[in-house]
This record gives sequence, structure tokens and C-alpha cells, in this order.
Amino acid sequence: MAKLYFHYSTMNAGKSTLLLQASYNYRERGMGTLLLTAALDRRAGQGRIASRIGIGEDALTFDEATDMFALIQDRAADCACVFVDEAQFLSSAQVWQLARVADDLRIPVMCYGLRVDFRGELFPGSAALLALADDLREVRTICHCGKKATMVIRRDEQGRAITQGAQVQVGGNETYVSLCRRHWREATGN
Ligand SMILES: [Zn+2]
Repeated sequence: MAKLYFHYSTMNAGKSTLLLQASYNYRERGMGTLLLTAALDRRAGQGRIASRIGIGEDALTFDEATDMFALIQDRAADCACVFVDEAQFLSSAQVWQLARVADDLRIPVMCYGLRVDFRGELFPGSAALLALADDLREVRTICHCGKKATMVIRRDEQGRAITQGAQVQVGGNETYVSLCRRHWREATGN
């Protein structure tokens, strides 16, 4: 049975690296993969999944209007596995479309994304994936104290923690730091 997977973590845990490695493992065996990532400020169409350690692959992009099932069905002939990066930006409806890809097209779908935003709240795509995925896998990274990091803060240019604002900030100068819950509470005053 093909499954819907959700690999979740906080920022900078290496999700894209894992995605690219897993896709490579399929291709090395002569099996085709389909790579998808969120369009964000770019126009839907061609995009790229890039890893901090310097590897990258071209990918198709999705935005809120994309029918994920239709997009994948059109390319199903040579597709052994679908990989979705930035899966936190999927809508609930799009996660259901990916569930249909696994169930009806019998193609496994591997989603990679952030669990919570910098306010400590679930992203819509992550909430739907946590509810619907067959298989949940945590990608671990650590706080500066050595404990598992589950939270993220957004910092402004002066290094101050930002606790308000849009869930998605594109093209700003903010940086993100992954922290354990205790140090997240300390940084945000919660
Ligand atoms: Zn900590």
C-alpha cells in the first residue's frame, strides 16, 4: 500500500537534504520521482529545492490554487514517488488531494515541512498532515543547550525575537533560530 508520509521538524534540521537524498535513492535505481515545492513569492511553475549543505534539484512549484492530484496524475506514468518540500504551506484540501494520490494512484507521497510557526502555532498544511498522514517521522535538531529543538523564533536585524506578524515572511532580513520549548519561552517572554 502506498502511504502518505509527513517528515516534520523545526527550521534548519536538514529536511531538504533528507528529501534530496531519498529522491536520489529512487533515481539511482532507475525509478522516476516528482519533486514539488511551494511557490511563495515566485510564480508557480519551475522552482528549486536547495539544501544548506549545497545540493539542489529543480522542482515544480505549487501555490494555493494548484490541484495537487491533477498535477501528479498528469505525470504519474514515470513516477515511483512524490516528494513535497515546504509542505507546511499546503492547504487542508491539498493534503486530501495528496492522500488520494497515495490511495487511488498508489504512489507514495513524502511530505517535508515545519510543524509550528514562530508563534508556536501549527501551520495549516502541517495540521492536516498530522491528522491524515499514514506515517509521521520527526526530523530532529537541537537547541543551543543540547536538548531537542521543537520551536522556532524569528529574529529581526538587531537579534530581537519577533512574536507578532504574518506566519509567512518572504524576502525579509529576519533570521530563524530553532530552540527547545524552555528557551523559546525565555526568548519570547511566554
Ligand atoms: Zn534549549
